[in-house]
Amino acid sequence: MLRAISKQTMDHRGPDFAEVGLTAIAGMKTIFKTKQRVFIYPSSGTGAWEAALVNTLAEGDKVVMYETGHFATQWKKMASKLGIDAEFIEGDWRSGADADRIEARLRQDTGHEIKAVCVVHNETSTGSVSPIAEVRRAIDAAGHPALLMVDTISGLASIDFQFDTWGVDVAVSGSQKGLMLPPGLSFNAVSDKAFELSKTGGMRRSYWDWQDMDAINGSGYFPYTPGTNMLYGLNEAIAMLHEEGLDNVFARHQRHGAATRSAVRHWGLEVLCRQQGQESGVLTAVLMPEGHSADAFRATTLQHYDISLGNGLSKVADRVFRIGHLGDFNDLTLAGTLTGVELGLRKSGVPHTEGGVAAAMAVLETTQFDTVAAE
Ligand code: PLP
Repeated sequence: MLRAISKQTMDHRGPDFAEVGLTAIAGMKTIFKTKQRVFIYPSSGTGAWEAALVNTLAEGDKVVMYETGHFATQWKKMASKLGIDAEFIEGDWRSGADADRIEARLRQDTGHEIKAVCVVHNETSTGSVSPIAEVRRAIDAAGHPALLMVDTISGLASIDFQFDTWGVDVAVSGSQKGLMLPPGLSFNAVSDKAFELSKTGGMRRSYWDWQDMDAINGSGYFPYTPGTNMLYGLNEAIAMLHEEGLDNVFARHQRHGAATRSAVRHWGLEVLCRQQGQESGVLTAVLMPEGHSADAFRATTLQHYDISLGNGLSKVADRVFRIGHLGDFNDLTLAGTLTGVELGLRKSGVPHTEGGVAAAMAVLETTQFDTVAAE
């Protein structure tokens, strides 16, 4: 993939580029599992967050967002900055979104003032996964026309995501997580309903305008300079994911999540996500015991074992550390990662029961999964 990125940059208006662009757009549709539209921006994921909002919502529009953690909070802050009336359904950062609470809120809105429900699929700050299909069912059960917008920046290509089947209207993602690429590309998958709405609705916009993208994407080109070399890498990443088979990729992450949680519990530490069945296969956030600094532990682990663990963000700063098991990851890299954590716990004097790595290995041994035939 890195070799693909290092290829000579070509003229993005020249004849050879069309195939690169068309392959990337068609490929991303297979990853989002959609036959509708996908737009690719040369930006970080935050850009695609903004694109989702400005193409569909006007200043003053009301939206309901679910407080799953730091990233849900950031998306809400962005909506407020844009003049959108964003309401939070409060959460405790220890589970995904609760579809029943969303349904109850929508049922109260008999005048259909709420224009969108926004949910984070994999909350990267907490390691909890929201049940998107259930959120769709909740919206339908309430008979509400609100759009369903989903941030799957860290979920896509690691945890199953079914844009069309789940009836998502706008999905947001980025290149640097399950797609295994460097940061620099972001994505919107867009339903026909949301796209139609954007023709006359949304707010003033230029760079993020889906209409400008759509007008030229059909021929494989972009309205401005695309991230050409990143698109080479993206096409390679998509090929790698299909070579392994998406279901195998998802199973691999789930298995590594289960093994990691087993290690954490053996150590006597607490997994931040406490909703069974919603624990992430992408990362595991771990609560530090009272009186111990997660950041001091992370600094010691980095200094002595050269392993950079994720930090706790905003509300859980210094209270949690995060073990990543996303992307190009296998049993050996997981064992190495967990060994680094266990060594760090010893070095930092954090009280724990030794043998977490062995507990994880036992899970790996007993959960050998049969890979399904690649696609
Ligand atoms: N949403 C989620 C769930 C994320 O994990 C991130 C980044 O980690 C973002 C949004 C913001 O994306 P970016 O940092 O690429 O702008």
